[in-house]
Amino acid sequence: MDEASITFLGAAQRVTGSCSLVRLGGLRILVDCGMIQGGDDAEEQNREPLPIKPGELDAVVLTHGHLDHTGRLPKLVADGYAGPIFAHPVTVQLAEVVCRDSARLSQSWEGGALYDEAAVERTLKLMQPVTYGQPQELGGVRLTFHDAGHILGSCHAELAGGGKRLLMSGDVGARDTPIIRDPTTDWGDTPRFDAAVVESTYGNRLHKGRPETLAEFEEIVQAAVRQRAVVLIPAFAIGRTQELLFQLRNLEAEGRLPRVPVVLDSPMANRVTAIYRSNVADCYDQESRALLASGKRPLRPENLREVTSAEESKGLKKQAGPMIIVAGSGMCTGGRILHHLKDFLPRKSTTVMFVGWQGQGTLGRRLVDGVKSVRIHREQVEVQARIATLNGFSAHADRDALVAWARKVPGPVGRFLVNHGEPDSTQGLVVAFGQAGLERTSAAEMGQTYAF
Ligand SMILES: [Zn+2]
Repeated sequence: MDEASITFLGAAQRVTGSCSLVRLGGLRILVDCGMIQGGDDAEEQNREPLPIKPGELDAVVLTHGHLDHTGRLPKLVADGYAGPIFAHPVTVQLAEVVCRDSARLSQSWEGGALYDEAAVERTLKLMQPVTYGQPQELGGVRLTFHDAGHILGSCHAELAGGGKRLLMSGDVGARDTPIIRDPTTDWGDTPRFDAAVVESTYGNRLHKGRPETLAEFEEIVQAAVRQRAVVLIPAFAIGRTQELLFQLRNLEAEGRLPRVPVVLDSPMANRVTAIYRSNVADCYDQESRALLASGKRPLRPENLREVTSAEESKGLKKQAGPMIIVAGSGMCTGGRILHHLKDFLPRKSTTVMFVGWQGQGTLGRRLVDGVKSVRIHREQVEVQARIATLNGFSAHADRDALVAWARKVPGPVGRFLVNHGEPDSTQGLVVAFGQAGLERTSAAEMGQTYAF
């Protein structure tokens, strides 16, 4: 029997930069190749070559389209990888949007672009779509994708070969996320796994319930309507933006909100929303299918306007409220949200609504922490607006949900390896697994190899 092992080349004791090397059935398979984000040394780290020569890899498997899982792929290709990249068809589409955007953004990096458009083109040519539940032969190893319920097209990757079986959780979604299905818990007749790698972004925390979060959301929008004011939402382009559109339409349809003008002001989020709208068949949950079947359009609030041109975006400040402006980037580190913040932060009537996690050192985090003045585009801007933080729209399972998910993985699982979390979160989940009787669980360490 060949040696089976996994080596963590990223996202061990941290959240971003997902990248794992799997040796199985005589093959070397890279699972995810994501961008490292946050921290002063991120740029340098992203430039470092992987500790394995790209030409020695047999295949790459992507769990989903987020930047921290796909963003270094074109670099791998530029460095010489020319083999197949297996991904869900939606992930193929999202990776294209994400990698093109990141090629453009990295042009402003101190050391120059991480890769160019040509590398992105070459990467896209290597992509091979694999749908849920359809086994794909990699030449001695069989890959099967299962719905991870995190964003559209997100997967748990099952790899079987040489008599061993490994499950890579990818990012595990939160149950009851609208539009998409819940993470897989019904494994049918899938045999037991020798090892399972589990993410731990929220491994030591519990989320606020969605109903509670929606009530806060409703309250803020109602107040804005009464005052004819503007609500600014810095939103992440993939997943969160589409959930916001869904919730807004739903609240309108239920008569809980009046029809407020909603402006989607992000070229990237517009492209991703189009991908969400066009991939219903393999991905939507029953609720969204039922809406479509009854002629409703789940991602279109009544007064939705999708802004593409920069001119139109800049003109929004002259418009009378009420109005909801959804613009990227989600942590206010760039994008159109910056000029909106410059225009609207000094107005007392404005509410800036944060609906996602804000990284250390970002403008978003400073606003959430309550600073009274910020610097945007070399101008000092006074913060008069109300800053609201809604924590319940998470795309990740929390601690208890991760434990519940792991208990359903066909077992007894030989060993659990916990990755994709800050050290406290990872350790929190290791402890929670132990308490739940899921033995042989360890925290993944960067650069370490674990046999199974
Ligand atoms: Zn993700």
